Amino acid sequence: MIILSSERESALQTLFVPETDQVAPVPRSVQPAAVSSGRGMQQVVTAILIVAPLLGVVAAAVGLISPRITLLDVILAVAFYAVSGHGLTAGFHRMLTHRSFKAARWVKITLAVAGSLGMEGSVISWVANHRRHHAYTDRKGDPHSPYEYGNGTWNQVRGALHAHVGWLFQAQPTEEARWAPDLVKDKDLAAISRMFPFLGVASLGLPMLIGWAVTRTWAGALGGLIWGGLIRVFVLHHATFSVNSVCHLWGRRPFTTRVEDRSTNFAPLAVLAMGENWHNLHHSCPTLARHGVDRYQLDSTARLIWILQRAGVVWDVRWPVAEILDRHRNTVAACVPS
Ligand SMILES: [Zn+2]
Ligand SMILES: [Zn+2]
Repeated sequence: MIILSSERESALQTLFVPETDQVAPVPRSVQPAAVSSGRGMQQVVTAILIVAPLLGVVAAAVGLISPRITLLDVILAVAFYAVSGHGLTAGFHRMLTHRSFKAARWVKITLAVAGSLGMEGSVISWVANHRRHHAYTDRKGDPHSPYEYGNGTWNQVRGALHAHVGWLFQAQPTEEARWAPDLVKDKDLAAISRMFPFLGVASLGLPMLIGWAVTRTWAGALGGLIWGGLIRVFVLHHATFSVNSVCHLWGRRPFTTRVEDRSTNFAPLAVLAMGENWHNLHHSCPTLARHGVDRYQLDSTARLIWILQRAGVVWDVRWPVAEILDRHRNTVAACVPS
């Protein structure tokens, strides 16, 4: 049964969840009171998640540790970036937040675990925050709008910092049961969410272990930790954060969105953001499995979904339809054919 808290919320909801598969926020009145006791600890964990990768970058930059990068370091960094990054983009974002496709249970679990290795919070909290972003884009209630502080140069700088990383430290917990009731009910995803601290440790420990296993030296293990772990997480974090900040500040807006929504397509981020940088299209048609819909728009996440579909392990993929997209360039229309 779908419960809607207001007509307006219902209208917003159709922007990110297909009509046939709606998951509406549960009204606030039936929610348990937000638990505040864990907030301090949550902010400490957030600080560790953000600062530790930065320390790895600084340490490598000044040559304190692992001064020489090896081929193995590069392979570990690229491989762990691709796995954890696509876990976030294909798994957390397109599969779980927007239901752009359906997947076999093992694919769902694999993508959710892979995304957790990105160290951007538990899968359920990530999805809940992102759904809230779509429901209130660039308005009051958006967890990370760069327009939080209004216009003017200084306010824009503050807003950009807030959208990029500042919002993570603010006390504005998104109620998971309200924004992601479907995920809370999913036993697999609830378990993966609870395992987030362990998966975070594994995200750093695995490349370190592989570095040691291949080279049988502590230098190899350290190289794996620094490059395959800390620096990889640092770059992935800031690529994701840039979708929240840069892709609402600079770039092109070829597709129609709600008036307040200032999402943009920002081409230079295509490789690092794995296609998530075509953010204006995404805000215009949130349920589509492909975001880079125009020629030469790289979207490795869409390619992965296509491969999985060919393999028969994902289905009901919401690919773009040219005529509907063309209508969307000028006017708000349905994103997914009925
Ligand atoms: Zn956005
Ligand atoms: Zn989205």
